[in-house]
Amino acid sequence: MSILPADRVTDLSIAADAAHAVNPWVALAYLAAGVLFILALRGLSSPATSQRGNRFGMAGMLIAVVTTLVTHEVASLPEILGAIAIGGAIGWIIARRIAMTAMPQLVAAFHSLVGLAAVLVAVAAFLNPGAFGILGMDGNILAVSRVEMALGAAIGAITFSGSVIAFAKLNGNMSGAPIMLPGRHVINLGTLVSILGATALYAMSNDAGAGEGWLFWALLAAAFVIGFLLIIPIGGADMPVVVSMLNSYSGWAAAAMGFTLHNTAMIVTGALVGSSGAILSYIMCRAMNRSFISVIAGGFGADAAVAGEAREQRPYKTGSAADAAFMLEQAEKVIIIPGYGMAVAQAQHALREMTDVLEEKGVEVKFAIHPVAGRMPGHMNVLLAEAQVPYDKVFELEDINSEFAQADVAFIIGANDVVNPAAKTDKTSPIYGMPVFDVDKAKQVFFIKRSMGGVGYAGVDNDVFYMDQTMMLLADAKKMVEDIVKAFD
Ligand code: NDP
Repeated sequence: MSILPADRVTDLSIAADAAHAVNPWVALAYLAAGVLFILALRGLSSPATSQRGNRFGMAGMLIAVVTTLVTHEVASLPEILGAIAIGGAIGWIIARRIAMTAMPQLVAAFHSLVGLAAVLVAVAAFLNPGAFGILGMDGNILAVSRVEMALGAAIGAITFSGSVIAFAKLNGNMSGAPIMLPGRHVINLGTLVSILGATALYAMSNDAGAGEGWLFWALLAAAFVIGFLLIIPIGGADMPVVVSMLNSYSGWAAAAMGFTLHNTAMIVTGALVGSSGAILSYIMCRAMNRSFISVIAGGFGADAAVAGEAREQRPYKTGSAADAAFMLEQAEKVIIIPGYGMAVAQAQHALREMTDVLEEKGVEVKFAIHPVAGRMPGHMNVLLAEAQVPYDKVFELEDINSEFAQADVAFIIGANDVVNPAAKTDKTSPIYGMPVFDVDKAKQVFFIKRSMGGVGYAGVDNDVFYMDQTMMLLADAKKMVEDIVKAFD
């Protein structure tokens, strides 16, 4: 089954065997890289330390890549360096150009590449096992390597096709609405069982070549299909959780491939990505009151985004930028609650300017960030950091919720579900159980959104619109804040 000439296979086999021998310096370098990755994750847990965390991650990756290149007999260093240069240049350009609101789909696209890479490594190992040093004495691929390859290929293929669908949904290339196939749970379960069965049979087969080799291709094809099937029933707004889950899958695929490639750094990195992605998904699901199992299982019971349910007409008050400016200037304490609409409008810079003016006028201004505000974890923190809002003005839900009772103004800008009291009171609401900001305790509430018709992600009405102390400021968030700043004395 080798695609390389016989002498080349032998060369690479010897090289691979040599590489497997434990070299203490290599082990030490990979250990250092692993520690740096852990420090990176630790740093990324807070906006204040996230840049340092990123630098740790970059240093760890540099050590891991250089160690692998200098200690392994690589086929062609110029080719590898050329590929790194091309990939690096493309990544650099994309990172410079990407809009903050397009980050979820970019991340989905990157995950698809990780999945595809895992599949390609597994296919390469399958076609040319000698080059990977995974041949047993009997000339067949070692059983343990077959399990690693099968798992890596399957998880990689699921990650690839799932991420492609997630990208298409988030990027608007296909409808974000859930696509519910009839009998999808049975089909999914059947496909999953076939993948596991094919993996087990492939692991137990004695023939690495053309014989039972078809099992490898069959499980790969089934995995591509299940990745597609798992993601199509999930609504567009739930995609960020799915992206985080796919991130986790990509880590496990890389870890499995690390075993095939006998690369400790890859195993450690893959496991870190896999477990941290799973923990993040779990945290997001809890914050959104979603079932973790339903997300992993691909829309099991997750008939979440209820688009625009019929709403009764109720009276509400509207105001202008001038009204809002006047009242903000009179306030002593203002708490700003940003949400997805702030990201859509890119209102963070105008908001920063408004904050500066208010502080000059002696008003205390704080920002309240809900764990699921926006459409990706840390969405609001990133935008506020971009606008250079100091970290010490930004508070998490549990740290600031008790302060609304002392606030003169709760300034809601493009947020909706995260301030909806139905989460506390209405057991039938899709957001029931999600912790929300107690904005109703503030003396006045300003609510910026574009129209009364627009709904938040959950698609439900919000009692805050109709409260006595609420003034609806109906406009694009950026335009409204700019007008408020202009209207200050
Ligand atoms: P919502 O999606 O609940 O509400 C967004 C609001 O922004 C709407 O009221 C919308 O109204 C308004 N809006 C949109 N565009 C603009 C604009 N240009 N100017 C002014 N207003 C605008 O956002 P939240 O941040 O409150 O809640 C996030 C939701 O997303 C939660 O339900 C959460 O569960 C969900 N979610 C979050 C994830 C995350 O990781 N953060 C992941 C997956 C889901 P209008 O159209 O009338 O302007």
